[in-house]
Amino acid sequence: MKKILMIVSALLITGLIVVGCGEKATTNENNKAEASKAKVDTKDKKVVWKLAMTWPSTLTPLASPTHNLAKMVSDMTNGNFKIIVHGKEKHKAPLGILDFVKNKQYEIGHSGSYYWKGKDINTIWFTTIPFGMTMKEQYSWFYYGDGMRYMKKVYDKFGVLNFPGGNTGVQMGGWFKKEINTVEDLKGIKMRIPGLAGEVMAKLGVSVTNIPAGELYTSLDRGTIDALEWVGPGMDIKMGFHKVAPYYYTGWHEPASEMQFMVNKEAFDKLPKNYQNILITAMKASASDMYYENFHASSEAWAKMKTEFPNIKVKSFPQPVMQKMKDATDEVLNNYASKDKIFKAIYKNQKAYIKKARQWSKMGEYGYIKTTESLK
Ligand code: CA
Repeated sequence: MKKILMIVSALLITGLIVVGCGEKATTNENNKAEASKAKVDTKDKKVVWKLAMTWPSTLTPLASPTHNLAKMVSDMTNGNFKIIVHGKEKHKAPLGILDFVKNKQYEIGHSGSYYWKGKDINTIWFTTIPFGMTMKEQYSWFYYGDGMRYMKKVYDKFGVLNFPGGNTGVQMGGWFKKEINTVEDLKGIKMRIPGLAGEVMAKLGVSVTNIPAGELYTSLDRGTIDALEWVGPGMDIKMGFHKVAPYYYTGWHEPASEMQFMVNKEAFDKLPKNYQNILITAMKASASDMYYENFHASSEAWAKMKTEFPNIKVKSFPQPVMQKMKDATDEVLNNYASKDKIFKAIYKNQKAYIKKARQWSKMGEYGYIKTTESLK
């Protein structure tokens, strides 16, 4: 019995020692691995990236996320990860950003996904579509619904990672020289309105044109165009459109225009893991900040417009006109869906998401404003 106990004790001791050694060895290896990982992640690796954007570098708030991103990334890496920002005045190719990033001429870009609809129609889903989601619904779809998954699927073939890059919130329907009472009033007018909304307006008889931002006011003033849409009070007031086209219509065509950050995948994969995390966090933070900045600018500009420019006539398109716009939008979307499987899938996915989310949008903030605004 004593012998058995001695053997068991010996085995236990040996076992413990073995286990102990094992644990010790594993712990050491882990420590070593952690230490070397920490070394890679925090060894103050110097990285310099270049960013190209569609906008002039002073065009706030659209350009703001790029400057904020560069500052945050630099601050969070003690100046070791630098992003040099080039506005369109530097690279001269406002609509060349996707190619720049794809070809690694720039590691990162800032633009609007719907500008690439000629390369892939599915890119439009990550900006906005007429009668689509509000900003909050869309961000929820991106981050908690299937938005980011579809984004990855669509941008994979370009070797580019795509991220939300700031939102204007709902855009105004535009400035018109004359009032629109029926769909007949739209026929023959010349309007600057890009993207899918341009296709919709063309179906309703509008002569659609695209004009560079710098020539918008002159074109409207000289009658080259009769109407245009730009963004909303915060950005529109600086352009002076209210002086030459007094009818300001509420929005339908860009309910939540999202900007985008595009990152070259190979360049991203080469970053230390902590730099990757810092970049992702800073992109998300600077994207959110653009919405706040624009909301603030629009509230300020709107208050000013009401007091300083009382001749501005704020209108909504009559419901029968809106219905025609909606019908034409459905027609355009269904036509693309019949030709493209991914388009069809995203369309279905967004529709289902919006159906659910809109219930809460109506009950939540919209309900709060409606039921409290007339209280004393
Ligand atoms: Ca616009």
